[in-house]
Amino acid sequence: MTFRENANIGGGRASRGGGGGRGGGGLAVGGGIGTLLIALVIMLFGGDPGAVLGGGQQAPTTSAENVDLAECQTGADANADVDCRMKGGMASLEQYWSQAYPKAPVPRAILFTGAVNTQCGQATSQVGPFYCPLDEQIYLDTAFFNQLEGQLGAQGGNLGELYVLGHEYGHHVQNYTGALQASQQDRQGAESGAVRVELQADCFAGAWISNASGPQGLLEPPTKEDISSALSAAAAVGDDSIQEKMTGQVDPHSWTHGSSEERMGWFMRGYDSGDPNQCDTLNAASVDDY
Ligand SMILES: [Zn+2]
Repeated sequence: MTFRENANIGGGRASRGGGGGRGGGGLAVGGGIGTLLIALVIMLFGGDPGAVLGGGQQAPTTSAENVDLAECQTGADANADVDCRMKGGMASLEQYWSQAYPKAPVPRAILFTGAVNTQCGQATSQVGPFYCPLDEQIYLDTAFFNQLEGQLGAQGGNLGELYVLGHEYGHHVQNYTGALQASQQDRQGAESGAVRVELQADCFAGAWISNASGPQGLLEPPTKEDISSALSAAAAVGDDSIQEKMTGQVDPHSWTHGSSEERMGWFMRGYDSGDPNQCDTLNAASVDDY
């Protein structure tokens, strides 16, 4: 249980199907949950760099396009089904961010299976969830959540999944604040622009969940177990945790997203304060000042 059973999620901007992007020739894919793909630099966690295909190559695409998940109407639907959960998350994120940062128009989430065309190019599921700043859509293969629990060792749970969505929505907000561009200047390292941008997205996710579980929100007040679900997901996608699992070694010089501790720390800073102004990772003396 995460959503209020009677919450109205019917307006959530989420679809299942191909993105319908032009594909090919894309210049960048920005800011997946465990991946940051900017310009020609592709940093993946345990993923296959070939998963991001260059222009001209043909990726298999999902057959049904833009199915609007009409069956997802209530919080009960969102609690029962992962597609509805993502639609509900988008409804809640829209409710929050359209007030907290009205300058950013509401993006759409595209749920896909296998591979998808976007204006940032074609991508397969191996890249993990990501945000494309060119078409301003969030792309997510919900099978990622199985990988998060299995290969990456997260405990699972609805709030962990919503943290992932909230992080990607945070990149969309950053596309309008200008923060997203900061990651392009300084792409890796423990205190890099890239890491700061990722940690800010984690903090934004926390601020959203905090507000979304208030009296007017669509979410139930999180239980300890819910918070633990989100923290466990944040820890699982920490650079140190991923490097340790994949290579047995930790190399902060190549970090793009921040350590497990940092990701949990900034998520909690957003959650505890409920204030995205507390998420100024870009100007923090150190990313450890959460
Ligand atoms: Zn990200």
